[in-house]
Amino acid sequence: MTIEFAEDERMVIDLVEKFVDNELMPLEKAVMEREAAGGAHALTPEEEAPLLAQCKELGLWALDAPEEVGGANLRTTVMLAIQEKLKSTVTPFIFPPDSPNLHMLMAVASDEQKAKYMEPYAQGEMKSCIAISEPGAGGDPAQMKTRAVRVGDEWVINGRKIWVSNVPKADFVILMAVTDPEKGARGGITAFIVDKGTPGFNIEREIPMLGGSRTYELVIDDLRMKDSQVLGEVGQGFAPMQKRLTVRRLEMGAMCVGMAERALKMMCEHTQQRETFGTKLSDRQAIQWWVADAATKIHATRLMVLDAAEKQDRGEDVRTEASMIKVFATEMATEVLDNAMQSFGAMGMTRELPFAIMSQRLRLARIYEGPTEVHRMVIARRTLKKFA
Ligand SMILES: Cc1cc2nc3c(=O)[nH]c(=O)nc-3n(C[C@H](O)[C@H](O)[C@H](O)COP(=O)(O)OP(=O)(O)OC[C@H]3O[C@@H](n4cnc5c(N)ncnc54)[C@H](O)[C@@H]3O)c2cc1C
Repeated sequence: MTIEFAEDERMVIDLVEKFVDNELMPLEKAVMEREAAGGAHALTPEEEAPLLAQCKELGLWALDAPEEVGGANLRTTVMLAIQEKLKSTVTPFIFPPDSPNLHMLMAVASDEQKAKYMEPYAQGEMKSCIAISEPGAGGDPAQMKTRAVRVGDEWVINGRKIWVSNVPKADFVILMAVTDPEKGARGGITAFIVDKGTPGFNIEREIPMLGGSRTYELVIDDLRMKDSQVLGEVGQGFAPMQKRLTVRRLEMGAMCVGMAERALKMMCEHTQQRETFGTKLSDRQAIQWWVADAATKIHATRLMVLDAAEKQDRGEDVRTEASMIKVFATEMATEVLDNAMQSFGAMGMTRELPFAIMSQRLRLARIYEGPTEVHRMVIARRTLKKFA
C-alpha cells in the first residue's frame, strides 16, 4: 500500500517536518526539565506565542477545517501524516484548532453555531473541550446520569463530570447530558454548548495525571441552556460524539507510530555505538529482535492507520478500524518504547531523554478515548456477529 500525496499535500507535510525538527525539537530539553522538576509540561506563553505566529505565517493553521471557514480542508490521510511527525517530539504543540471537536461541530452545528463557535474555533481564536465521562460512567458513557430537564423554554442541567481535559483554557465546553433516560444512548443523550463562565458550570477540582497533564472534575448545578445551545438534535448527541471519538482514535494511532519511530531511531543509534563485553549491543540477537519487531510492528500500524484514513476520506464507517488501531497502536508503542528504554540501561530510566514523558503519555493513551479492554470487547462483538 503506497499513499500518493498531491504536490500541495507533500508541501504541507514537508513544512510540518521542518517545523517539528527546527522549532519543536529544540524545546524538548526545557519541557523535560520542567517535567523532572514536577511541573506541567505545557509550553509557557513565551515559548508558545512565537510558534503560533510562525504557524499562522506558514499556513499551518486550520488544516482540516473546511475552506468556507478559512481552513485548508486537508484529508484525513494528510492530517495523520502530520500527526505522526508532530508526536515524534515530546514538546506539546498542536496546530490550531484541536481537531476532534471541530469534526463534531462540522457534522451537526446550526448556521448560527457555526458562525459563533466553529469559525473562530477553526481560526484558533477559541478553544474547547468535551465533557462526557462521569464518576459512574467512563468506559461505558451510555450510563451517564447528568440530566437535562425541560423547564419552560429552557433546559436545566444537573450532574457531575470528571476527567475532562483542557477545561480552564476552553472558551466553550461540549457538555453531554441525558434528556430522555428511557432512551439513553439511543435517542436520549443530547450535546449542549456551554460558554465559559455560564452560571451553574463549576470546576470542582484539578486532578494531576501522569505525563504532566491535568484533568478536571466539574459540578453542574442548575445550569440553564436555551435551545440555541443544543448542538445537533435533542436526543441525538451520541452518534456525533462517537464520530468525534473516532477521529481522535485515528490520531492516536498516528501519535503512537510517531513515538515508536522516534524510540526505534534512538535505540538503533545507541545500540550501534554502545559496547558491552567487547561487542556492540546491535550485534546481539536479543537487541536485533527488538529492532526487527519494532520496525515490523511500526510498519503494520502505519498501514492500519493509512487504510482507515483512506476509508474515512471515502466516507466509510471506520469505527471498528479505529478500535483496532486504538488497541494495537497503543500496545505496539508501549512495547517498542519499553525495549528502547531497556537498551539504554540506566540512561533509559532518566528524565533526560524523551522516553519518560512518552511512556507516561502512552500509559494514559490506553485509558482515554476508551480503555483497551472496552475496544477489544467492541471488536470481538462485531467480529462474532460477522461470522454468526
Ligand atoms: C488523560 C485523560 C484525559 C481524559 N480526557 C477526557 C475528556 O476530555 N473528556 C471526557 O469526558 N473524559 C476524559 N477522560 C476520561 C476517559 O475517557 C475515561 O477515563 C475512560 O473512558 C475510562 O473510563 P473510567 O475511567 O470510568 O474507567 P471504567 O469504565 O471504570 O473502566 C475501568 C477499567 O475496567 C476495565 N473495563 C471496563 N469495561 C470493561 C469491559 N467491558 N471488559 C473488560 N474490561 C473492562 C478496563 O480495564 C478499564 O480500564 C480522560 C481520561 C484520561 C486518563
